[in-house]
Amino acid sequence: MTQERMILGADEQYCSSCGAVVKKTAELCPTCGVRQQSHAQQSYAPRTEGKNKWVAFVLAFLLGGLGIHKFYLKKYAQGVIYLLLFWTLIPGIVAFVESLIYLFTPEDTFRQRYPND
Ligand SMILES: [Zn+2]
Repeated sequence: MTQERMILGADEQYCSSCGAVVKKTAELCPTCGVRQQSHAQQSYAPRTEGKNKWVAFVLAFLLGGLGIHKFYLKKYAQGVIYLLLFWTLIPGIVAFVESLIYLFTPEDTFRQRYPND
C-alpha cells in the first residue's frame, strides 16, 4: 500500500494514525499527536503478527488429511498424528471441519491463536 505513495526518506515513516510523514525517531506525530511505533519496536513485538487464516484454510481444505495445515500452524505433534492416521481417512474429515472453523474465525483472533513465534 505505502509503496504507491511518495518515497520516504530513510529516517521517515508514515504516522500510524493520520498517515502524515514523520521522523522515525519522533515519539509523537506532529500532525495528530498520536504516539508512534517505530519499525524497530515492531520487530521486537511480533505478537501482533500471526498465521494467515486463508493459508491455513486452503491447506486444511486441500491437504488436511496429511495434516499439512498443522505443520503450517506449528502444531507439529498433531501434524504427525494426522500423517500416521492418514490411511484411516479420519484426519481428512477432521481437517475439513477445521477448515470451516478457520474460515469463520476472524483474522485477528486467528493471528492471536496462532502467533508466528
Ligand atoms: Zn498523525
